[in-house]
Amino acid sequence: IEPAHTPSAVARERYAELVELIQKYRAAYYNEDAPIVSDAEFDVLYGELEQLEALNPELVTNDSPTQVVGGGVSVAFAAVDHLSRMYSLEDVFSLAELEAWLRKAEGSVEKQHGLAPKWLTELKIDGLAVNLLYRDGVLVRAATRGDGTTGEDITHNVATIKDIPQRLHGENFPSEVEIRGEVFIASKDFIALNEQMVAAGKAPFANPRNSAAGSLRQKDPAETAKRPLSMYVHGIGARAGLKTASQSETYEQLKAWGMPTSPYFKVLDTLEEVLDFIAHYGEHRHDLIHEIDGIVVKVDDFATQRALGNTSRVPRWSVAYKYPPEEVHTKLLDIRVNV
Ligand code: NAD
Repeated sequence: IEPAHTPSAVARERYAELVELIQKYRAAYYNEDAPIVSDAEFDVLYGELEQLEALNPELVTNDSPTQVVGGGVSVAFAAVDHLSRMYSLEDVFSLAELEAWLRKAEGSVEKQHGLAPKWLTELKIDGLAVNLLYRDGVLVRAATRGDGTTGEDITHNVATIKDIPQRLHGENFPSEVEIRGEVFIASKDFIALNEQMVAAGKAPFANPRNSAAGSLRQKDPAETAKRPLSMYVHGIGARAGLKTASQSETYEQLKAWGMPTSPYFKVLDTLEEVLDFIAHYGEHRHDLIHEIDGIVVKVDDFATQRALGNTSRVPRWSVAYKYPPEEVHTKLLDIRVNV
């Protein structure tokens, strides 16, 4: 398709409409933990915006939803700056797109380093990201992702999550390390929580992601303490004195220090193995501890991650494959039947 050099009035109008809608939906999702459209509907609009920008690059501004990490800081929380930026992930929605992405990344890594990358393949947990700052092994601050630069201070809320150690176990800790992970409500806990809500005459939560986000972002940490929140580590930010050379090695180290790491990740050598991993969890997606909305594939080696770098919104060394959307009401109906 030929890019149009001057966007038509229709394109401009649709562009403004999409930006407004996406900003409104993001605010409901990130700030209120109460989405007004399904993720699948949101993803379609976001895809349309990306396409419109590809055809009309003149329309792209620095604050376009495609250029910034979605989220903000609610007035209910103090704002805190992350030591190192937090990013979103580039999404792909088909295996063909994923294959193209992996082959391109493989090509550029091979060109730079003469070696194909190893792929750290993980589940994309449907929860919300947290940034945990440990100084000399002691948790000093916890924050939500916010806009990636500044998050919400949720230190007291995180202190109520049993999975997250206040002090790392062992010794020889880095002087300063930001450990990132996903806070979620396990599927079995979600069912139990909704049964309690219904028994108390309250409306059940629509899905585990929103209940986890709403539970963690309570003004009163005593309320957060009542919710069955869990966490798995999936990243690392600032890392003064951390000696590991790859993401998988870091997970092993973090596990030894008592951080909760996912039992599901694998380090794989080939594209075929990554596709098998995706097929396997596509089939078993409801037999897992938590809900997932896809698979995340990352270059494992830190030096290569650094060489590939980031855009303003996403790392260039990682991609998320999203499974096709499922019937959104199934879960709720199951719960109603169970009650
Ligand atoms: P994203 O969810 O596509 O990817 C980034 C996030 O994935 C990270 O910040 C992290 O929190 C999470 N994650 C889970 N497992 C991970 C792993 N193993 N490794 C790394 N990260 C992992 O990006 P986003 O910007 O947070 O949000 C976009 C998503 O949110 C889309 O799925 C979209 O549908 C949904 N959304 C929905 C609405 C709505 O109104 N329904 C609004 C905004 C966003």
